[in-house]
Amino acid sequence: MSAAHQACGSSAESADLAAAQSLHQRLMASGHERPERERCPICFLLIEFAVNEHSKINVCCMKRVCNGCAQRGIYDSCPFCRTNVPANDAPMLAMIRKRVDKGDADAIHHLGDKYHHGGLGLAKDVPRAIGLWTEAAELGSVEAHYQLGCVYYNGIGVDEDQPRGHSPLAAGSNERERA
Ligand SMILES: [Zn+2]
Ligand SMILES: [Zn+2]
Repeated sequence: MSAAHQACGSSAESADLAAAQSLHQRLMASGHERPERERCPICFLLIEFAVNEHSKINVCCMKRVCNGCAQRGIYDSCPFCRTNVPANDAPMLAMIRKRVDKGDADAIHHLGDKYHHGGLGLAKDVPRAIGLWTEAAELGSVEAHYQLGCVYYNGIGVDEDQPRGHSPLAAGSNERERA
C-alpha cells in the first residue's frame, strides 16, 4: 500500500482490512512448494500425485522412489543402503517392524498405512492405524499429521470430528512449510 493511500484512509478499520488482506495473500501464496522428500532420489523428478500410488518405499531405509525407477528394475539391492529388497510380505513387514522398534517416524507411519488398508498380510485395523499415525505425528511425520487430519475430518473409521481434523491438517501444513 502506498503512503498516499495510508494517509487518506488511516482509520482502524482500514488497518484491519489491510491486515486481513495481507494474511489472505500470505496464506494463498504459501504451501505450494513440494517438499524435497517427494522427489525421486534416483531420477530426481517430482513424484506424481497421489504420491503413494506413484512411488514405492524401500522398507530397508524408508526411502521413496518413483514407480518408473522401481519398475525399471535397475537394482536388486537397495541403491541407498545396499540391503536386498525383499519381495514377500513377511520379510518386508519384519524390516518395517525393526525400524518401528527403533522409533523411526516414517516406518511407524508406513506400518499405520498397512494396518489402515490391511496390507502386507495384516488384518485391517483402523484404530491401530490411527494409534500408529498419532505416534508418528508426535515424532514429526508430516504425512501422519495429514492422514490423521483426513480420517478425523472425513470420519473414516472414526466418528467424524471436523474441528479435530483441522488441527493435525494445520500442524501438518506448518511442518511442510518448515521442511
Ligand atoms: Zn525415479
Ligand atoms: Zn535401503
